[in-house]
Amino acid sequence: MNSYKLLTPGPLTTTATVKEEMLFDRCTWDQDYKDITQKIRTQLLDLAGVTADEYTTVLMQGSGTFTVESVMTTSLKKQDKALIITNGAYGERIVKIADSIGLQYQQYSVAYNAYPDEAELRCILEEDPQITHIVMVHCETTTGILNPIEMVSDLAKAYEKTLIIDAMSSFAGVEMDVRALGIDYLISSANKCIQGVPGFGFVIAKLDKLKACKGNARSLSLDLYDQWKAMDKDGKWRYTSPTHVVAAFSKAIDELIEEGGIPARFHRYQQNNQLLREKLAKVGFQTYITDEKQSPIITTFLYPHDSFQFEDFYLYVKERGFVLYPGKLTEVNTFRIGNIGEIHEEDIETLCSVIEEYMGVMVK
Ligand SMILES: *Cc1c(COP(=O)(O)O)cnc(C)c1O
Repeated sequence: MNSYKLLTPGPLTTTATVKEEMLFDRCTWDQDYKDITQKIRTQLLDLAGVTADEYTTVLMQGSGTFTVESVMTTSLKKQDKALIITNGAYGERIVKIADSIGLQYQQYSVAYNAYPDEAELRCILEEDPQITHIVMVHCETTTGILNPIEMVSDLAKAYEKTLIIDAMSSFAGVEMDVRALGIDYLISSANKCIQGVPGFGFVIAKLDKLKACKGNARSLSLDLYDQWKAMDKDGKWRYTSPTHVVAAFSKAIDELIEEGGIPARFHRYQQNNQLLREKLAKVGFQTYITDEKQSPIITTFLYPHDSFQFEDFYLYVKERGFVLYPGKLTEVNTFRIGNIGEIHEEDIETLCSVIEEYMGVMVK
């Protein structure tokens, strides 16, 4: 198999040094290992710009969806009701979760390339006082749209609702003032912008909110409250933790800090993204999301013409060292290119020359 770089939104390309951390088998109850967990939990609070007197970090086994489900099943009591804002597949997945747990909710959905409307949201909140929680995806990885978190945060504050943000693909790649935004539960995972490998997710949770969630969960293994209680004692996870993944993640955080923290990473991702979109525009690729709504994480491109074959294009690019992502839209033909992970300007340059070559156009 030829090696390639992943231009997908996670799992993504990681450094050799992150992967090397997985060559050693660690013991789950050993103090050194438990210390790694505690160090990670503290570093995540620092990255979020919050402090341990107000917030805590809970790590949860599984992929990101397991962590989203753990927040949904734990943070809503029987009588609570969620307003779930959707403009993509990940928001819709939260609706599916709510259905399968049997939560009370209202879905507010807008087109995949549109922002939720503030006046409409106000209307819903005014009309339905049963609503206790607002849930939204920050960067909808389905399209790459970056949702207006300040607007939704202001509404959550004004109407005193608990705010749950799926920041899976944006946390650590986009600067966010978690405290000022009043986010009660921020969810992300190991294999996105922190650039670790897949295996667990994490929640940065407001302590006073989480403390009130005892006994809410309709699941044993996904009980975020119990997970926190156990982990908070000494860093020992409730059930077997993905030891290799945890060690790799700890290294990935150290490397994020060395790079200059979230502002530096945001800058690199944004440069990657701008370069990619500029260069591909020159060879005829239009984007699905308009510039002002576009995240620096992943971009959806429309097929450049009717006879464009994604499968053929994909294989051509893969043979030359990069793996792309198919589109996730039904009404238009698209594909996606992620620019997060250990991807630098020179990678984007190389990729774009491969694509230019494919398109048979030489652009200076
Ligand atoms: C990656 C991602 C998830 C989680 O997906 P998993 O496949 O379960 O890891 C959830 N929400 C968003 C916005 C994502 O990008």
